Amino acid sequence: MDKDKEKVTTAYRSGYVALIGRPNVGKSTLLNQMLGEKVAIVSPKPQTTRNRITGIRTTESCQIIFLDTPGIHQGHSLMNRRMVDTALQTLDEVDGVLWLLDAHERIKQEDEMIAETLRGIETPVLILINKIDLVSKGKLLPLMERCSQFLPGKEIVPVSALKDEGLDTVLNIVEGWLAEGPRYFTDGEHTDQSERFLASEIVREKVFLLTREEIPYGVAVTIDEFIEKPEKNLIVISATIHTERDSHKGILIGKRGAMLKEIGQQARRELEGLLGCRIFLELFVRVDAGWTQNPNQLTEMGL
Ligand code: GDP
Ligand code: MG
Repeated sequence: MDKDKEKVTTAYRSGYVALIGRPNVGKSTLLNQMLGEKVAIVSPKPQTTRNRITGIRTTESCQIIFLDTPGIHQGHSLMNRRMVDTALQTLDEVDGVLWLLDAHERIKQEDEMIAETLRGIETPVLILINKIDLVSKGKLLPLMERCSQFLPGKEIVPVSALKDEGLDTVLNIVEGWLAEGPRYFTDGEHTDQSERFLASEIVREKVFLLTREEIPYGVAVTIDEFIEKPEKNLIVISATIHTERDSHKGILIGKRGAMLKEIGQQARRELEGLLGCRIFLELFVRVDAGWTQNPNQLTEMGL
């Protein structure tokens, strides 16, 4: 075999793929199947980007980095202009787009808007009609027909993310979109540890956002428990907010616990979006006078 040719065929390939579709069409389920394990999280600062990495599939020959583009999931009128622009920019820059539809649901206005958006980009688009295990062939065909009217010439693959049907075909097509490129992320970067870290960072961020200047420094968050219950699509998290002063403890808890409740609710919502499952989040506040000066305690907190 020609040596150069061999080089080309064995080159590592990588790229970014955006996953879009209305809520509940099965995006998380699809990702979980394609990744083979729970969705990997990499961004420790979710506020800084609108386009979140929701999962990474790494094989011997290629790496696919899946992005979520939240802006596109809502109707245009509900979105602010910047979110639309960011989402569109993402769709233009990725190597491909997977658009998920639910086979046993009617086409909704949101889908029509997504289709309209997708008509305006150059990026390859693959339409996935998910949950085919729930419908008969007779129902599937009109939907496929409708989709090809939406986006003429685009490939449509009927799949069942839940039953792992059709996903090999999807992965083959997606791998065809990838160009030669590096392995951007190593396997070790997406352990359970990064999810714990993410949880503590999000709680800490909510403390800062909600208490503002009242509690300038001196807050650390530790994760005391992080128990995954995949059968319930649930993660149980127990976290402690450490503060240096009694007065800060009062502020953090708030009147009748209102502040702590708000911190917990906001953190929980964000974590649910990022981790793609339900979160039960329990928060405690503890006064650790002088913890910022205590090396042992800092180590314990992983700082
Ligand atoms: P997302 O909001 O787009 O991320 O959707 P999810 O992945 O959370 O799925 C929403 C619901 O649809 C869950 O109850 C899934 O179990 C279910 N679901 C996803 N894919 C399939 C499928 O292929 N077949 C069936 N029957 N249910 C599915
Ligand atoms: Mg989801």
